[in-house]
Amino acid sequence: MPSAFERRFQPQRHDFVREPRRDDAPAHREHVRVVVLARQARGVEVVAQRRADSDDFVRGDLLALAASAEHDAAVGSPFDDVLRDGDADRRIVHRRFAGRAVIFHRVTEPLQRAFEVLFQKKTGVIGANRNSHRRELYYRHYMALTAVVGVRGERRIASGHPWIYRSDVADVSGAAGDIVSVKNARGRTLGHAFFSDRSQITLRMLTVGERAANVALIRERISAAIAFRTSLALDSTAFRLVHGEADLLPSLVVDRYGDYLVVQTLSQGMDRLLPEVVRALDEELHPNGILARNDPRTRLLEGLEQRVDLVAGEIPETIDVVESGVRYDVDLRHGQKTGLFLDQRENREAARAYAHGRLLDCFSYHGGFALALAPKCTDTIAFDVSEDAVARIRRNADRNGIAVDARVGNVFDELRGLERLRERFDTIVLDPPAFAKNKGAVEKAAAGYKEINLRALKLLSPGGILVTCSCSYNVNEGAFADIVLDAAVDAQAHVTVVEKRMQGRDHPVLLGVPETYYLKCFILRKLA
Ligand code: SAH
Repeated sequence: MPSAFERRFQPQRHDFVREPRRDDAPAHREHVRVVVLARQARGVEVVAQRRADSDDFVRGDLLALAASAEHDAAVGSPFDDVLRDGDADRRIVHRRFAGRAVIFHRVTEPLQRAFEVLFQKKTGVIGANRNSHRRELYYRHYMALTAVVGVRGERRIASGHPWIYRSDVADVSGAAGDIVSVKNARGRTLGHAFFSDRSQITLRMLTVGERAANVALIRERISAAIAFRTSLALDSTAFRLVHGEADLLPSLVVDRYGDYLVVQTLSQGMDRLLPEVVRALDEELHPNGILARNDPRTRLLEGLEQRVDLVAGEIPETIDVVESGVRYDVDLRHGQKTGLFLDQRENREAARAYAHGRLLDCFSYHGGFALALAPKCTDTIAFDVSEDAVARIRRNADRNGIAVDARVGNVFDELRGLERLRERFDTIVLDPPAFAKNKGAVEKAAAGYKEINLRALKLLSPGGILVTCSCSYNVNEGAFADIVLDAAVDAQAHVTVVEKRMQGRDHPVLLGVPETYYLKCFILRKLA
């Protein structure tokens, strides 16, 4: 029940939003404090604050003022319509809000409360500065950026999954790439998310609960992600700094290659923040250059173009990387993924411990496993279907003084060919590309995985080691284990599991989000 006082006050919108010019009069000729506020359920968050000459905002520089207060935040197109109308010069624009500035003399506590009640009711958002000085500039929410989710969406958010699908979103008020507050049907705030108007993944949660999502939060998470990678003290000059959802930075990838960085922004929301991400990385790490490798096909699902841009400094044609003592020549602009398969680093190291005799590295790319394992083996053959990749394996082998017989070939055919020739190997690596890129492809993918594992087990000598991988997240660990077992049964081989491994520690898995556990790597031993 509202108190008698509140009832008496029953404030009306026009009480607070005065006409242009007239309401600014008290602020003339003086310095005032400009406060841009976004209301949180448990208080008021100041998102920008500055001293300014009142003339600045009576004459129309309010917009620039507020924008620069928030680190020169870009004023996005969603506000264009808002700004075009009559009193545009009265509006403060923060990246997500556009509102009318209202200046008050001495707001009394009760009035302030009533005032908050009004705007909570009417618009859901109001800012009020509790440490009122003589003059305050209040900021009223103009457009609530909100998404309403159904019961299933709410349950999914509660389970910690950051992706909410289109079918679970009832209503959205916001534009492509906006950060929206996510509510249930009763209006309770469940969190804040990136909104995509194209993807089946309509919302990507950034926060759960009342905590707002803003640039400061993104920067904080980038710093935390980098600090964790630094603490790992990996034996490599190339590793992943930010692994998207698993760093609570949905659809952001940042890889480090020596003094250079590669970023990928794979959703509308994260793509809009690319300049902020670049700035944060620049300040944190002072790289010589940052490349935005935004050419993955997944961007098309977001209605984003595939493009590669130099976004800071410079990037040489090739970069020298040392991983566990092996030197690689990496082309950040054209290489697969961001240049190398960084996620396999620790599996290469682990496999090295068992490697012996004749080595066959299938799906070798730039020779990752071949180069890591060859020093422990008598001879090494590496296959890749790509001529460019094979040329790179040869170059890398030469640079490291390692002998590798690198051949262009389709592994499916080559394994059969080797079997016909009655060749035998003591160590075989299978690291194919994702055969199951989507759910529909799982069955066919399973057949592909089984085929190569069966052939490899047949080619393996007793006591031999099979390092077998799958990077299809649609084929989970259990399913992959079943496929490998099937292959072992058909090959009539007794096989022990020596190690079950996954992607490297710089690509951690977020519990409850199976999509982040994509790389499985089993190290198997054939007994007989
Ligand atoms: N093992 C590598 C990464 C492999 S990525 C490493 O440790 O760095 C998968 C590779 O498989 C790609 O280089 C791709 O060109 C190759 N490839 C895809 N299909 C193939 C096929 N049927 N036969 C041989 N190579 C194939």
